[in-house]
Amino acid sequence: MIALDAIRKTYRSGATSHTAIGNVSLTIADGEFVSIVGPSGCGKSTLLNLIAGFIAPSAGEIRVKDQLVEPGHVPSRLGYLFQKDAVLPWLTVEQNVGLGLRFAHMPTAQIRDKVSSLLKLANLRGYENYFPYQLSGGMRQRTALLMTLACDPRVLLLDEPFGALDSHTKINLHRELHEIWRQLRQTIVMVTHDLDEAVALSDRVIVLSGPPSRILLDRRIDIAHPRDPYTVRETEQFGTHLRALWGVLGKEYQRTPDGTAAILGSAA
Ligand code: ADP
Repeated sequence: MIALDAIRKTYRSGATSHTAIGNVSLTIADGEFVSIVGPSGCGKSTLLNLIAGFIAPSAGEIRVKDQLVEPGHVPSRLGYLFQKDAVLPWLTVEQNVGLGLRFAHMPTAQIRDKVSSLLKLANLRGYENYFPYQLSGGMRQRTALLMTLACDPRVLLLDEPFGALDSHTKINLHRELHEIWRQLRQTIVMVTHDLDEAVALSDRVIVLSGPPSRILLDRRIDIAHPRDPYTVRETEQFGTHLRALWGVLGKEYQRTPDGTAAILGSAA
């Protein structure tokens, strides 16, 4: 579904340049859930922006559904969920979720049906007429997820979607996202800082090095689906995957010059 071939991304600013992504090649199958982890600044968000066609690679090619991704042409049926819930404060939950469908000129009755089934999927029934300021952080992020899902994306790009939430809300949302993914089977690429989250949800976890980044580890998480995000954490397999990933990522954190090394060094 997604193929990145020898991708490099260098940002230039005046006379200076910074290569965030050194050389990354990766293929992601239809319906796969892949998480990307790595030190801050290694180009995780850049990678999502490249797949979405928001920016162009400095070298290499990206294909989504066999179509070459060109900057400015967002691949069809692609959804992007940002770290901060991007809901519109002056619209209700129902209006926010149906916004993309209105832009697509879907008839009102159909929008109502579609939004109603989406709200059911994310346990937001009863909150149709609430405005974002009347919702918890978790409910706002759920609303943002439903806005993204409304247009039936086949590829979902998630940029630290749960980063700002408390652990309990986060795990409840993991459960809902996992259920939505099991029902709709989109191809998901999720950037996260949370290794637990990556192992609990994904089919594969990719560990990137510090910049200029390359892939240090591409690990298949062979825990059977459906997974319960609470109980999966108690399994031996979960612990094994977590240790293997941390073994690589922890070393890379220590190597990066952003201050994380000092914290890890003093804890050890
Ligand atoms: P990550 O998501 O892994 O933290 P990013 O993809 O956000 O990393 O950024 C990677 C590097 O590229 C960072 O050093 C960042 O400052 C730089 N960068 C990101 N976007 C731009 C931009 N538009 N212009 C210049 N530099 C950028």
